[in-house]
Amino acid sequence: SDNLLRIRDLKVHFPIRQSSFGDTSGLLKAVDGVDLEIERGESVALVGESGSGKSTLGAAVVGMQKPTSGHIVFDGNEYGNGRANARRRMRDIQIVFQDPVSALNPRMDVGESIAEPLAIHGVGSREDRRHRVSELLELVGLNPQHADRKPNMFSGGQRQRIVIARAIALQPKLLVLDEPVSALDVSIRSQILNLLLELQQRFGLSYLFISHDLSVVRHFADRVAVMYLGRLAETGRTADVFSNPAHPYTEALLSAVPLPDPKAQRTRQRVILQGDLPSPANPPSGCRFSTRCPIAEPICRETSPSLLPVRPMQQAACHLRVPALPI
Ligand code: SF4
Ligand code: MG
Repeated sequence: SDNLLRIRDLKVHFPIRQSSFGDTSGLLKAVDGVDLEIERGESVALVGESGSGKSTLGAAVVGMQKPTSGHIVFDGNEYGNGRANARRRMRDIQIVFQDPVSALNPRMDVGESIAEPLAIHGVGSREDRRHRVSELLELVGLNPQHADRKPNMFSGGQRQRIVIARAIALQPKLLVLDEPVSALDVSIRSQILNLLLELQQRFGLSYLFISHDLSVVRHFADRVAVMYLGRLAETGRTADVFSNPAHPYTEALLSAVPLPDPKAQRTRQRVILQGDLPSPANPPSGCRFSTRCPIAEPICRETSPSLLPVRPMQQAACHLRVPALPI
C-alpha cells in the first residue's frame, strides 16, 4: 500500500504522582494502543475531547514524545532506527500548533523565523534563503516585502500563515496540525483551512489534523479517527462517519455539530453525554466509554472492544455495533 505513516499498537504512558488523580496505577495512559495509517497526500483528522490523548499522539508522530511501546513507521523507516533517519524525519514531518503568537519569536523578523529551519538544516546560501522566504510568503498569501516586519505587525490569521510558511519551508511530506484554527476568529478559520487545502493539492502533502471539533474537519479531512481516553473509538472516511457513525461516542459528538439543513437539524436527536471524561490515569474497565454510553450493557464493563470493521472502510470499537459475521 501507499502508506506514508503507519502506527501500530502505540502506547505513551507517563508516570504520575498517585495523589494528583487519586488513582492507584501511577500511570497516565495518554495513548494506549493505537493503530493508524496515513497515505501519501491524504489528510486524516484525529478528533476527540481535550484529554483524549490526541496531542500526545501527534507529538509522538513528530518525534517530540518518546513512545512507551509500539511502532511508528514513516516512509518505510521505523522510528528509533538510527540518527540519519531521525534527521530526515525532522525535515519530512513538521508541526503547526494552535497559537501562532507563542509560536513566533517576537524579536525576530518574520522572514528570519521562516528561514530558520532552512538555516538549521544548512539549506542554500543566505541569498537563496531570502528568495525562498519571498516565495513562501507569497505561497501563504502574504506580501513578500513584509519579510522584515516583526510578528506584532500581523493579525492572528496572518501569523498562522507565517507559521505555516515556516512549516513548509523544508518541503515536508507530513504536517501535524494540532488545532491549527482553534485560536483564530471564526470568520478567518475557513481562510486558513482553504490555504492548507491549497498547499496540500499543490505539494501532495499529508496531514494529521488534530481537532476537538468535528465540524471543522468535515470539509477538510479524507478520513476521520475518533479518539477516546487514549484509544480509537472509530475510524472511517469522513463522509461515511458523518452520515453513518457506528460508535455511540461518535454519534454523541456529531449530534452537537450543526447540520447544513435546518429541517434535518430539528428532527435530529441531541445526545447529551453523562458526566465528564474519566481520568486517563484510571480509565473504566472494559469499554472506556461505558461510564457515559447511553446503550451500555453488562458485557461493556467486562471486556474491552477491539477496533473492527463495521462496513467497508469503516471500523468501530463497540461490542454492540460490530456485526457478528465478518464483512
Ligand atoms: Fe457503549 Fe458498550 Fe459500545 Fe462501549 S462497547 S460504546 S459501552 S455499547
Ligand atoms: Mg491538545
